[in-house]
Amino acid sequence: MLKQFSPDKMLNSPFGITAEHLKKMGKTTILTDLDNTLIAWDEMDATHEIINWFTLLEAEGIKVMILSNNSIERVERVAKATRIPFIARARKPLGKNFKKALSELDSHPEETIMIGDQIMTDIFGGNRQKLMTVFVRPVKETDGMATKFNRFMERIILKQLTKKQKMEWEDSL
Ligand SMILES: [Mg+2]
Repeated sequence: MLKQFSPDKMLNSPFGITAEHLKKMGKTTILTDLDNTLIAWDEMDATHEIINWFTLLEAEGIKVMILSNNSIERVERVAKATRIPFIARARKPLGKNFKKALSELDSHPEETIMIGDQIMTDIFGGNRQKLMTVFVRPVKETDGMATKFNRFMERIILKQLTKKQKMEWEDSL
């Protein structure tokens, strides 16, 4: 059971992921969560950090798509400023929009990584689709009410990963 919720990697920040790392691992494609993964959940606008990261990846031929459970209005505002394609209201961990994203990008699961700050949606959803999953520290610790239960479950799972499986927070893949 725990395996389904275990990320392949734990990173301090998604911005440590470079095209070079990905290519070494045979990865061409990134699906990424938005809120608290790329940007604080209560921050309205895209940051230069996101734009720079995406521009560098894109220049190296890495495909990127935002897969967010948040509203179209919220995701579009950030995605448009960064030019990153997106699927909003994705209903992660359900599989439908993971599959849609891969189909739109013309990518296969084995060449794709999923990045996110929530075990129960991003990591569980990505694992179910057999993607490499990368768990990142949330940008901002306090979070919306809807995720309180998920955060509780996460603390239990994280304790297992760090104490029993000796997984560590790293800076790059
Ligand atoms: Mg999130």
